[in-house]
Amino acid sequence: MDIVRDVFSSALKPRIFRDREKLLPDYVPEFLPHRESEIKRVASILAPALRGEKPSNIFIYGLTGTGKTAVVRHVLSKLEVTAREVKARVKGVYVNARYRDTPYRIIADIGEAVGARIPFTGLSVGEVFGRILKAVSDTNTIYVVVLDEIDFLARKRGGDDVLYKLTRINSELRSSRISLIGVTNSADLVESLDPRVKSSLGEVELVFPPYNAEQLKDILEARAREAFQPGVLEEDIIPLCAALAAREHGDARRALDLLRVAGEIAERLGDSRVTRNHVYMARDEIERDRVVDIVRTLPLHSKLVLASILMVTGGGSSYATTGEVYEKYRYLTVKLGIETVTLRRVSGILAELDMLGVIAGRVVSRGRYGKTRVLELAVDPGVLYKTLSEDIALGDVIDDIGRVFGKRSSVR
Ligand code: ADP
Ligand code: MG
Repeated sequence: MDIVRDVFSSALKPRIFRDREKLLPDYVPEFLPHRESEIKRVASILAPALRGEKPSNIFIYGLTGTGKTAVVRHVLSKLEVTAREVKARVKGVYVNARYRDTPYRIIADIGEAVGARIPFTGLSVGEVFGRILKAVSDTNTIYVVVLDEIDFLARKRGGDDVLYKLTRINSELRSSRISLIGVTNSADLVESLDPRVKSSLGEVELVFPPYNAEQLKDILEARAREAFQPGVLEEDIIPLCAALAAREHGDARRALDLLRVAGEIAERLGDSRVTRNHVYMARDEIERDRVVDIVRTLPLHSKLVLASILMVTGGGSSYATTGEVYEKYRYLTVKLGIETVTLRRVSGILAELDMLGVIAGRVVSRGRYGKTRVLELAVDPGVLYKTLSEDIALGDVIDDIGRVFGKRSSVR
């Protein structure tokens, strides 16, 4: 084998991307088509900060991929730049609750961002608040604190309390003020919030509507120009990605992922252009990865609950009630010789799985018994089974699942 020739020939392979990073989810583009009015709205609410006045709190909701994070980060960074130019004392703080395990970590992040010294553990939430107060109280600064994916905070134990304390913090500050921007993908959250938190956060409420296929096309086109080599996209690739994403709910993240992964597949296959086929392959690959990523990182009891659903639904072809799932779950924990958590806790796990999109709740009519809430799998059972079986903690139980599952389906 000629190593040098190998290197040369791979360098000569057709190149698909110019700058693939421009399609990654964390990249915040300079230009956000079809969000002009939202950007203007958020900017005008925050503008008083430049004059040293506390902006209203804002509560933003909308489905995933509707540009909430991008818009908020975009405006926040411009606000800081402008504040520096005009010498206004404004500081933006951005935290995303999804990536934090506990309310303590979230509040500690905010503390660190405002210059308080917070140990990794060891303080009570109240003490962390004390340190935040001390750090910010006399700085004569307007802090704009974004709590992104706030539902992940609100649903955790103690989360409500942290939110409540945050919304009251201004009464204890001297020269400084804190404005809050709460962002969520979940409309349910709005209803489940502590009413005092809700009314305080929701001084201004903004709803981000989903994008339609035309708008997604514009968004993709702008980003594709920066990300791809000229001419590598076949003509109907962008409309196809836009249409597939619009069919779900107009999720820009999904549209961008489809386009990026289609490009990656084309590159992997050594093809010189991105075709429709690559887009369809991308769709399947994304779905598979999504399930694997979510399921892999679930705690053991959540995996067991999922395994129970897989068993009750016979590999996903039917639905299950919470009672049926709990019974199966109990059987599995007893078999493994581990603690069985309460039905209440399992209901909580089911709500989380629903939120993650792994299962879906549905109300069905059961004849004279009236309507019942049931659960069904929202992911490919074969992929789910395979991912669960990677976890050695599931031990023998995986054979039980396999048996039920193998009977109904040949996907293994
Ligand atoms: P959300 O926070 O509402 O779930 P994001 O702001 O994270 O959505 O957007 C998802 C992805 O789509 C990100 O990569 C973001 O940069 C991109 N995006 C969303 N809206 C636009 C837009 N109007 N123009 C360009 N890119 C966008
Ligand atoms: Mg977001």
